[in-house]
Amino acid sequence: MQTEVVRVDRTKIDAYVMEKAGKILKSGGLVAFPTETVYGLGADALDWEAAKKIYAAKGRPSDNPLIVHIADIEALSKIVKEIPEAARKLSKAFWPGPLTMIFEKKECVPDGTTGGLSSVAVRMPSDEIALALIRQGGGYVAAPSANRSGRPSPTTAQHVYEDMEGVIPLILDGGAVEIGLESTIVDLTGSYPVVLRPGFISLEMLREVVQEVEMDKGLIAEDSSIPPKAPGMKYRHYAPKAELKIVEGEMERVISYINKKAMEEPGVGIICTEETSKHYHAGLVKCIGSRREERSIANHLFAILREFDKEQVTRIYSESFESPGLGQAIMNRLLKAAGHQKVQV
Ligand code: AMP
Ligand code: MG
Repeated sequence: MQTEVVRVDRTKIDAYVMEKAGKILKSGGLVAFPTETVYGLGADALDWEAAKKIYAAKGRPSDNPLIVHIADIEALSKIVKEIPEAARKLSKAFWPGPLTMIFEKKECVPDGTTGGLSSVAVRMPSDEIALALIRQGGGYVAAPSANRSGRPSPTTAQHVYEDMEGVIPLILDGGAVEIGLESTIVDLTGSYPVVLRPGFISLEMLREVVQEVEMDKGLIAEDSSIPPKAPGMKYRHYAPKAELKIVEGEMERVISYINKKAMEEPGVGIICTEETSKHYHAGLVKCIGSRREERSIANHLFAILREFDKEQVTRIYSESFESPGLGQAIMNRLLKAAGHQKVQV
C-alpha cells in the first residue's frame, strides 16, 4: 500500500482533503491525523471490522481498548449509558482538550473497540484538523497513538511515517503537536473519579473542578502488586532501542554519576536539561528543554527517544523530572520507556 502524506493548514483546512479522509474512514479504512496531544491512528469506532485494522497496523494487544474521539458533546449520550454529574463538570472545564473519560458503554459500541470491557473511553480533542476529520468520518473515531505498539508516541507526521509507511493509505500532516503527551484518563464508572493515566491535565487541575478525585493505586504502587486499571498501562511502552535508565537524586550527584558512566562505557546517550547540559563531558548529550518550562520537556520527550534510535548508543541515562505539575505525566512515560529501571544516587 502506498502511504500518502498530505500537509493540512490548520488556519485554512482544505475541505477536499478532509472529505477524502472522511471517505476512507467511512469505508472502513485508517487515517493518521494530528491531535493536540500526539498523532492518532483513526478508524470508525462503531465498525468493528474497521477498528480491528488499528490493532493489526499497530501490532497492539487485543485487550488494550481504544479511545473514541467525538467532535461535539451531543455525540456522547449516543454511546454511553449515563453521564455522571462529575463528567458534566469535567467536560465543561476541559473539553475540547486533553482529557479522556471512561463511561459505561451502550450496545452500539462494539466489544472489540473496548477490548471486551463494558466501559468505553471518550475524548473530544481540540485540534481543528482532528475535529474536522471526526465530523467527516461519521462522528466516532477510535484513535490510539499512531505508532507501532511499544514505540514512542508520534509527535510529528514524520514519526507516523516511520512506523506506518506501507501500512495505511493516508497521513494528515498538521506539523508538530502542541502538547506531546497523551491525554489524562479519568474513570467515571465508580463512586468517585479516578485518574488511570496522568497527562497534561494534572490531579490539581481536576480537583479544582471536582473535589473528590484519586489516583489509580496501580499507578503509584512501587511494586507490581496492584495492577493498573487501564489495560494499556501494564505494557512496556515508549521504549527506545537502547536501554534506558533514570537517575534520581540530588542534581550534582546525578551529573557526576552520569559523567562517570559516560566515560567508562562506550555508546552512552544522555538526556539532560538546559540547566545542566554544560556539565556533561562525555557521551552523546541531548537537551530535552528547560526545567523552568515543563511544557517544553513534555513536548520533546517522545521525539528525543526516537532521535536516539538513529544514533549509535546502547545505553541512555536520563535525569529525572519529579514535579507537582506535569512531572507526574513526564515521569510516568519515562519510567515506562525505561521498563522502570531507576538508579538512586
Ligand atoms: P492510547 O490510545 O494508545 O493512548 O491508549 C489508550 C489508553 O486508554 C490505554 O492505556 C487503554 O488501556 C486505556 N483505556 C481505553 N479504554 C479504556 C476503558 N474502557 N477502561 C480503562 N482503560 C481504558
Ligand atoms: Mg499509545
